[in-house]
Amino acid sequence: MQGKPWAGQRFIGPGDMEGIGHPATRARDTLRETKMNFDLTDEQRQIRDTFARFCDERIAPQAAALDEARAFPRALFQELADLGFFGMRYPEDVGGSGLALTEFALALAEIARGSMSLAGAVAMQSLMGTKFLHMLGNADILERLFKPALRGEKIGAICMTEPNAGSDLDSIATTAKKVDGGYVISGQKTWITSAPLADFFTVFAKAGEEKKLTIFLVERSFKGLIVGREIHKMGVWALPTSEVAFDECFVPDSHRLSQAEGDGEGHLRKTLAEIRIITGAMGLGVAQAALDEAVRYAAERKQFGKPINRYQAIQFKLAEMATDLEAAKHLVYYAAWLRDAGRPHHKEAAMAKLNATEAAARICDQAARVLASYGYAMEYPVQRYLRDVRFTLIGGGTSEILKLIIAKEVSS
Ligand SMILES: Cc1cc2nc3c(=O)[nH]c(=O)nc-3n(C[C@H](O)[C@H](O)[C@H](O)COP(=O)(O)OP(=O)(O)OC[C@H]3O[C@@H](n4cnc5c(N)ncnc54)[C@H](O)[C@@H]3O)c2cc1C
Repeated sequence: MQGKPWAGQRFIGPGDMEGIGHPATRARDTLRETKMNFDLTDEQRQIRDTFARFCDERIAPQAAALDEARAFPRALFQELADLGFFGMRYPEDVGGSGLALTEFALALAEIARGSMSLAGAVAMQSLMGTKFLHMLGNADILERLFKPALRGEKIGAICMTEPNAGSDLDSIATTAKKVDGGYVISGQKTWITSAPLADFFTVFAKAGEEKKLTIFLVERSFKGLIVGREIHKMGVWALPTSEVAFDECFVPDSHRLSQAEGDGEGHLRKTLAEIRIITGAMGLGVAQAALDEAVRYAAERKQFGKPINRYQAIQFKLAEMATDLEAAKHLVYYAAWLRDAGRPHHKEAAMAKLNATEAAARICDQAARVLASYGYAMEYPVQRYLRDVRFTLIGGGTSEILKLIIAKEVSS
């Protein structure tokens, strides 16, 4: 019992159960006691603490200026590459560190606590911007593009969304027509993160007789690739997002990442849970920042002769925000743990994303109320959290789409 949190307490320790109940029940309880463990491993704690320090010392002090500059956070992006962040989810033989999703989510949440723009940029680089190159690319693509991307030397983007195809990827209209030695891609994409700087683009286009989703790799130098208008956004100002067009862009056969025409949806499905869990983790980060700021401000701000955190109305807000966040954390890390353990996790990943991002949006809203006029002032960070958190409600599936997925899972 020594060292256990329940040691010495009455009525709640396993010792209190001795001699009670059927032996089989007792055996099950013992098993449950050893299996249920909310502790992080030493390695996970070390990773979280490393990125927490990086957030406090490197990201947070620059976050407001980066946002104001509306420029891609290149220097911090490189520092995270040097820390090995982009390779966390890839095996050692390609330059990664082979870490689990839980570790990645812990690190990403800390980055998002400092800057959602940076978190969006580095999440794109470590997951969707590079994933299909690693899964499906040939040796040349791995050497020339993928490995340098893990070192931060090249930037990757993913092109799925189109003006008339958002949640509904079946209505993608970009086509890839087979020609001698490759394909000709024609179409229009929009909302492409990091596009103004990207060196390569993973593109979803319809190919084959059945016109099904197929994945291609387009390099920046390819003729017919046009990075168009930058989209001015409500939030994540330091994360450039652009339109991208393909004007009869020739792509050699070596750059059809899909093993067969039409297998794109299957490959995408393998990554969706991961995207949802990490988007949930980004929600946790910005929510933590908003809660921290609300707690700090409520202790300092005095009205009617007392700090406002002495008023129950404010205390209730802080309590609700903290509880919302704690619950969201548990579901995000539970979903990540399920995935790492190789167990079914699609429903929990959708729930984790839905719950964490909606909770984060509520928490940022409540933080703005605690700060009142200062929550509305540009020199305080809460307005940024309030704007940035909305990004997490959209990317990785909107709340409505996630509810459809969850309803289907629970009804099947
Ligand atoms: C900052 C930012 C960065 C992005 N980066 C990228 C990127 O790098 N690459 C990329 O490809 N895309 C990117 N996207 C696009 C993003 O993936 C899409 O915005 C998202 O898929 C939703 O599509 P939509 O905005 O067209 O909304 P729509 O799909 O048009 O949805 C509009 C509304 O209708 C609801 N709705 C839609 N269908 C249903 C249904 N069947 N039942 C109930 N409700 C429904 C939605 O929930 C939503 O409320 C980015 C978006 C943002 C905001």
